[in-house]
Amino acid sequence: MADFEAVRRQFPILDQQVHGRPLVYLDSAATAQKPQAVIDAESGFYESINAGVHRGAHELAARGTVAFEDARAAMARFVGASAEEGHEELVVTAGATAGLNLLATAFGYASMGRGPAAARRFALGPGDEIVVSQAEHHSVLLPFQELAARTGATLTWFSLDDEGRIRTDTADEVITDRTKVVAMTHVGNVTGAITDLAPVVRRAHEVGAVFVLDACQSVPHLPVDFHALDVDFAAFSAHKMYGPTGAGFLYGRRELLEALPPAWFGGSMVELAWMDKPAQYMDPPARFEAGTQPVAQVVAAGVAAQWLQSIGMDAVAGHEQALTSELLRLGDIPGVRILGPMSATARIGTVAFEVEGVHPHDVGQYIDAQGIAIRVGHHCAQPVHRHFGVYASNRASLGVYNTMDDVHALLDAVAGVRPFFGVGGTRAE
Ligand code: PMP
Repeated sequence: MADFEAVRRQFPILDQQVHGRPLVYLDSAATAQKPQAVIDAESGFYESINAGVHRGAHELAARGTVAFEDARAAMARFVGASAEEGHEELVVTAGATAGLNLLATAFGYASMGRGPAAARRFALGPGDEIVVSQAEHHSVLLPFQELAARTGATLTWFSLDDEGRIRTDTADEVITDRTKVVAMTHVGNVTGAITDLAPVVRRAHEVGAVFVLDACQSVPHLPVDFHALDVDFAAFSAHKMYGPTGAGFLYGRRELLEALPPAWFGGSMVELAWMDKPAQYMDPPARFEAGTQPVAQVVAAGVAAQWLQSIGMDAVAGHEQALTSELLRLGDIPGVRILGPMSATARIGTVAFEVEGVHPHDVGQYIDAQGIAIRVGHHCAQPVHRHFGVYASNRASLGVYNTMDDVHALLDAVAGVRPFFGVGGTRAE
């Protein structure tokens, strides 16, 4: 059993006071804090290796290339993707948003007839359908909504049940033989709900559609294996999994990456370029990595993956689930409504809630004054808020470093919100 007190001690940022109180960090769904090993990996890269990779005959460039490719391989092993040279399945991106936009842009080019002959499988046109869900973060919804607008395809979506879970039981009706792309979150960033992917992936493949997973909120909290999930593409960000900002990865099944046209153009992605004829692009993943990459961040992201692996994702999930059960007691506080599943096994420890009669920004400020960091607003997911009949919410989200004391600090603070604001007839003196 992993020692989570020892895990917590590896995060220097947590050892500080905010507004005169010990910091309680409950905003890991926005971005996770970084363990010393990740901080050291990033600064260590700049101290002893820093160089452009894949080019240059000098020793530092060679070391940088090895570190960069080793990090890609470490991450691939962590998420169940191929790490084999020549069969890589992870493309380096600037983050999940960048990966999803890359994909939607590439599908758009395929729809214009660009790319290898095999790219026709991604081509969209009028009458075709792109399917998402109402639980999506805007970084899934908007790129695919734009793709539909650009190609004349129609955007349709899965609706949600009362607890905000994607109605995957409706897969056979929502996904039709006109569906070409299905894009969906693995874990909702508002509801925390874990999507039952299997019926959706099965149905997508039955009709010949590609399945795109937003794995941003699952990879840091649950054991995730893209091969086992049988998804075609998946995007996630390093910064939510205890790695640096500015780096992320797009997974693609190897044969699909080979069929996909490039989305961005520039240095380090062509074999040959001429003035008077089209360029010949490199094989994946280089084809999708135009320009100088976030090398230091990717190297540190690889360390983050190994660091999580050394704790063990089953242990991480178990630790967070125990805390989540307690965090869900938020729903017992008068006037508090949780926007998501009430069962700790159906979700991760990202818990959005409404305090009846108190604006989320007031809640956030009151909680912050007690040294507790939560998020308020629509969390870049307006349609899911509309589903619950609210514009915005408060969101507490757990990471590996959180403790029962953190959860109790939040429960106590939230219990004080309505009395403090004089809502519900219990004004504090
Ligand atoms: N999808 C989900 C479910 C998310 O929570 C986020 C980040 N809030 C994103 C996508 C986008 O990630 P990033 O901002 O790191 O690109």
